[in-house]
Parts: sequence; structure tokens; C-alpha cells
Amino acid sequence: MTTVRLILGDQLNPGHPWFARVDGGVVYAMMEMRQETDYVLHHAQKILAIFAAMRDFACHLRGAGHQVDYLAIGDPANRQSLMANLDLLRDRHGATAFEYQAPDEWRLDRQLAEYSQRLGPSARMVDSDHFLSARDTAASLFQGRRRWLMEHFYRHMRRAHGVLLEPDGGPAGGQWNYDHDNRKPWPGLPAEPGDARPRHDHTGLWRQITDAGVASFGEPMADSLRWPLNRAEALAQLDAFLSHGLPHFGDYQDAMSTRGWRLFHSLLSFALNTKMLSPLEVVTGAEQAWRRGAAPLPAVEGFIRQILGWREYVRGVYWAHMPGYDQRNALGHTVPLPRWFWTGQVGMRCLAQAVGQSLRHAYAHHIQRLMVIGNFALLVGLDPAAVHRWYLGVYVDAFEWVELPNTLGMSQFADGGVMATKPYVSGAAYIDRMGDYCRGCRYDRKARTGPRACPFNALYWDFLDRHAPLLSANPRLALPYRQLARMEPADRGAVRDQAADIRRRLETL
Ligand SMILES: Cc1cc2nc3c(=O)[nH]c(=O)nc-3n(C[C@H](O)[C@H](O)[C@H](O)COP(=O)(O)OP(=O)(O)OC[C@H]3O[C@@H](n4cnc5c(N)ncnc54)[C@H](O)[C@@H]3O)c2cc1C
Ligand code: SF4
Repeated sequence: MTTVRLILGDQLNPGHPWFARVDGGVVYAMMEMRQETDYVLHHAQKILAIFAAMRDFACHLRGAGHQVDYLAIGDPANRQSLMANLDLLRDRHGATAFEYQAPDEWRLDRQLAEYSQRLGPSARMVDSDHFLSARDTAASLFQGRRRWLMEHFYRHMRRAHGVLLEPDGGPAGGQWNYDHDNRKPWPGLPAEPGDARPRHDHTGLWRQITDAGVASFGEPMADSLRWPLNRAEALAQLDAFLSHGLPHFGDYQDAMSTRGWRLFHSLLSFALNTKMLSPLEVVTGAEQAWRRGAAPLPAVEGFIRQILGWREYVRGVYWAHMPGYDQRNALGHTVPLPRWFWTGQVGMRCLAQAVGQSLRHAYAHHIQRLMVIGNFALLVGLDPAAVHRWYLGVYVDAFEWVELPNTLGMSQFADGGVMATKPYVSGAAYIDRMGDYCRGCRYDRKARTGPRACPFNALYWDFLDRHAPLLSANPRLALPYRQLARMEPADRGAVRDQAADIRRRLETL
């Protein structure tokens, strides 16, 4: 009587109840597959980090006495797809039962549901024991409402999990949200925290990946991969962040700088999304830092909101709207991505920084993703499905359940406003206010038209103009639409011409 238990590449949680005891009748199945490397073109570091972390996890399980059958990417027996590999491993071990943890991606959920159906009662799905809400918590909370306000969900989660509450059940410090105290540009001090952990050399693994014919883009950094590959490294990264990053997280969470690529962000998303860390321990660690006086409440509240609020909320949006959410295109945008998304060779300094950093580190922080790259994509009218595929490929933390609602919903407004109450768009003024990108840029941040005008400016007004039938009644856009109405017809025409010219010159901006 043997049970094969599948562990997917983003299910690397050594604390899962499965591993509480060693069972001679259980074989853990792990597999590196072309199915998973090839569904979009991935950043080299994403493939490397996931495979390296899976290999580390398999070693850890074997060290603890568990049986593991691991199919490496170059293994001649590897059939490179989930179902075929499961058939292979079940046959190899004479399995009488099959178990798997609930996958987070709709694609894998469907595949495994179909596979289990074929096997009948000997197949079983168990919880991944990772999230703080169920797949359908947000859907139940927002039942019958058109707009899903994150703040409403977040307060529900604070109460449900007793996070940052006063003894009377009210919010710590008397406010639920301290955003107005946060979000300053970074003057250069305090210094950006350094990397918390030694870098890994994975040149051997990288050779195996390329020998297997896996295509990728971006810098592999195979000899100095920085992402945490196991729970101990992830915990060290969490500790370093709580001491050095969290105290300044609130102040500089929206800042951008050519002098620092991570600023005071935690870099914990890869460890969280591969389940090396639980969201509750990260949230609890941050709350304790505030309670012992090591970090101010606005910073701690702002950080906790990202994990207890946004992270759980976007997962709820994903499960409520899949399948089909990835096809939404409410604004009818169809422009293909320019080639510089894969090279970083673009003259707009903010985009060169944000895209270049994404290609170098497989990482950009939230405001670079939302207000530089995403803002540009939305204003220019890039095809949201292509934007989604790029984001899903480029970031080390990108798994569809979290990437898709953020990209297609929050950033590209392609869901027509399920997630965002208004499109996240701005001209150059916002980018200039939050950082130093505009200084030294070949474009003039203040000009709207003309050969040196910053493309964001004309694109911003043209976006509002083009989408007035859909957006002008939105009360949150009342002010810019009033400004647009006051614009002289000749100026409005010049903006339209400038925007059309930018779209024609997209490859050479
Ligand atoms: C267009 C776009 C695409 C994104 N794609 C992804 C993605 O593929 N994977 C991903 O994990 N995050 C994504 N995010 C959210 C966010 O940008 C990243 O979680 C964050 O930049 C990761 O870096 P960090 O760990 O240093 O985060 P920090 O700034 O330190 O934040 C702490 C944690 O909060 C969570 N978090 C913060 N914002 C969000 C959010 N909007 N949604 C979900 N979780 C959040 C993450 O787990 C993160 O690790 C995206 C945001 C945008 C605007
Ligand atoms: S001037 Fe415009 S293109 Fe240049 S960095 Fe500023 S916002 Fe970006």
C-alpha cells in the first residue's frame, strides 16, 4: 500500500502536516518540468530559484527520513508534463493512493481535479495550510457588490485574526490605516539595507536547465543567486527586514531611486509565495516589532496591510473570477509590447531603470510595477494579456493567483474596475515627486508636447480623452476631467497628435 504525494514547486512548506511524521508507505513526488518552464517565457532567475529551492527541499525531506522521488529537468525518464510524470511515478512505486495539496493556480487546479477524477476515490486533495483566508472568503464578503473594496476586506481580516487591535477590539492607535503618514521620497538616508544572506552558486544547475533546451530571458546570476532557497534562509531574511527595513518601510514604500533598487522593501515575496514562510509569522513578527518599540505603527500597519490585506484579497479576486479573468480587456487595448521590455534599452529614464532592474534582478518593487511600467502600459494601450504574460514571466515572485489580479485588474484596469476604483495613471509629475528618475532624463518632465516632452504627459491626457465615455462619470476622476474640459481645442488636438506619434515611435522612445 503506497501513497504518492505530489509537492509542487511553490509548495515548499516544511511545516505542512504531511511532514509531521515519517511514513514508510508514502513517496513524495517532485518534478521539474517543461510544462512549468514553458507556459510563458520566464526570467532565468525565476526558473533557477524555483528549481534550486525544490532541490533543497527534497534534500531536507530525505534528511528527515522521508522517501522522495525527484525528476530533474534533464532526467531521461522525465516526461516533462504533470499528468504523464504522475502516471510514471505511480507506476514506478505501485501506488494505491494519490494525494496533493490544493494548488494556487487555476490551471493546475483543473489538471489535478481531472487527474483525480480519473483515479476515483483513491485520489485526495488536502489544504496547503498556507493562507489566512479561504479561496472564497472575499467572494462571500463581497456578495452582491459591484466593487470589491480592499479596505473592507482588510478590516475584516484584522478582526478575524486579532491583528493590531486594542484590547477593546478597536484598531491599534485608533486608526485602521496610516497611509497619510507614509509615502515620502527617499533623500538617500537612512542607507538601504544590504542583502541578508550569502549568495548561491548555481552554475551547474543553470547548465542543466539550458542543456534541457529551456528558453528564458533576463540575467541568470547563476553564480550569485540571491533568493532564499529554504526556510532557514527565508527566516534570516525576515529577521534582517524586521530590524533594518521595517522601521522605514512606511515612509519610503512608494519612493523610487536610481541609488537603490530595493529601498526598504522586504524581498519576502518569493519566500512567501513558495510557502517557505507563512503569512501569519511575517505579520506577527511585524506586529511584535511595533509592540517592543522597534518600528513605528504607520510602517508596521502599512506592511501588515500588504500581506493580511492585499495578498489575501487578490487571491480571493483570482478564485472568484477564474476562468476567463485573464481574457478581460475592458478598455479594448491591443498595442503589442515594444522589444525594450526584453532588453531595457529605452530612453525614458524611469522605464530604463524599472525594466532594466526587472531584467537584472527579476524584481521591481510595487511602485515601479504599478506607477512606472504598468502606468506606461495602460496609458499607451498595450494589450493587457501580453502585459500579463510579461509580468508573469519576469518576476521571481510571479505566480498567476497573485500576479494576474495585480496586473490585469489593479494595474491595467482590464477588469473594468472590479479591483481598482479608478485606473492607476499619472503624468510625469508623480514619478518626479516620488524619486530622482526625471533628473538626467532626456525628456522634459514639465512639457506636454514637442520633441523633448515627457511621453507620460501627452499619453495621460490622451488616455482620459480616449476613454471619456467609460471613465468621465467616475467621481474619483472628476478633477482631471474638469481640467481636460478646460483645455483649448487646439491643445487637445496637439496632445492627441503627440500621443499618436509616441505610439508610432514606441520602439525608439
Ligand atoms: C502590476 C503588478 C504586478 C504584481 N505582481 C506580483 C506577483 O506576481 N507576485 C507577488 O507576490 N506580488 C506581485 N505584486 C505585488 C507587489 O508588487 C509585490 O508583492 C512586491 O513588490 C514584492 O516585493 P517585496 O516582497 O519586497 O514586497 P514588500 O513591499 O516588502 O511587501 C511585503 C509583502 O506584501 C505582499 N504584497 C504587497 N503588495 C501586494 C499586492 N498588491 N498583492 C499581493 N501581495 C502583496 C507581498 O507578499 C510582499 O512580499 C504586483 C504588483 C503590481 C502592481
Ligand atoms: S521625464 Fe518622463 S520619461 Fe523621463 S524619467 Fe521623468 S517621467 Fe520618466
